[in-house]
Amino acid sequence: MTMVRPTDNFGRLHDESAFTVLARATAFERQGRDIINLGIGQPDFPTPQHIVDAATRALRDGHHGYTPANGILPLREAISHSLGQRFGVDVSPEQLLIVPGGKFAIFTAIQMFGEPGVEIIHPDPCFPIYRSIVEFTGATPIPLPMREDHGFAFSAQEALSLINERTRMIIINSPANPTGGVTPKKELDLLVAGLERYERVAILSDEIYGAMTYDGQRHISLLSYPSIRDRLIHLDGVSKSYAMTGWRLGWSSWPANLYDSAYRLAINSYSCVSSISQWAAIAALNGPQACVTAMVAEFDTRRRLVVESLNGLPGMSCVMPSGAFFAFPNVTGTGWQANALARALLEEAGVAVIAGPDFGTYGKGHLRVSYASSAKNLKRAADRIGEFLSG
Ligand code: PMP
Repeated sequence: MTMVRPTDNFGRLHDESAFTVLARATAFERQGRDIINLGIGQPDFPTPQHIVDAATRALRDGHHGYTPANGILPLREAISHSLGQRFGVDVSPEQLLIVPGGKFAIFTAIQMFGEPGVEIIHPDPCFPIYRSIVEFTGATPIPLPMREDHGFAFSAQEALSLINERTRMIIINSPANPTGGVTPKKELDLLVAGLERYERVAILSDEIYGAMTYDGQRHISLLSYPSIRDRLIHLDGVSKSYAMTGWRLGWSSWPANLYDSAYRLAINSYSCVSSISQWAAIAALNGPQACVTAMVAEFDTRRRLVVESLNGLPGMSCVMPSGAFFAFPNVTGTGWQANALARALLEEAGVAVIAGPDFGTYGKGHLRVSYASSAKNLKRAADRIGEFLSG
């Protein structure tokens, strides 16, 4: 028997159930079963052709080596320009750090502030990586409820009430995974005004779904609040907005006094992001944006379809999500526990969804349904779930 074992920190790392369910769904498919996968959160569209072309050009042009650890300057300039255009904010290329997927910015930011004895506030339910990395650092995760009767947005008052002398960071994610909730400007204004009293609290704003808002709402970036810019870490990337999850490219913006630490973690871990992906991301940001508009319009159609179908199923009710590509139906009326239902739907009905409790305590009684799948698949999935629940 081996005597080597990882440190206790590694024992505190959690799985991400979207990947666990993906592996189980793929295993069923290999056995010849027809599975409709509404589990994983990634666009089902291919990366737009002009971006793929830019990547092949980068390969042909010989961009084969390491790049600067913080990313190539033309990409950081393209991001700076795009942030200016989208939100009217001034973020200099010197503040931007290219990361291998937005996820690494989360890892870096939480590592920077998490340690035993401190508290980090995170949304609940949330992207499970937040809590996992907070626990990895030994810090205590403090859940901020995202309530269904509040449109799955947080209450600024509730967020502020959780802050104490141990609080080191608050994580905000709007539009949100797993609920599709968008926190309204009113709450963001109140949160920022309240945070002005707590200058020691860093803010991580995960805006990876910022391109996906519906009903004419515009995404509001926390970058547009000058009073918190000196302690705001902002993250976004190409994964969701340009259907590029496999390219592993995100970006983050850092206040000047934190930048060097983030840069050093890059040097000590991934060195730099794939040069090919960086050149492709330049094409994504500087090229035509009609591809994003078209994808968001398609998600919007599916959003309505999926919410209507879910609301027609016995025991289910689903609020209309305002952003991202997730619906978060309440399944308490089915008589099933969410985890048991998610398992049974995969095994017996061939539909992969994620159980709400996998995203936190306040996800109890819900499922996450990704509508980043064709309208045909969404209809077939609703029929299968309906048959299963009635059967
Ligand atoms: N934040 C949230 C809320 C997410 O849902 C995801 C992906 N599921 C990420 C960050 C990470 O995205 P990526 O690393 O692919 O850029």
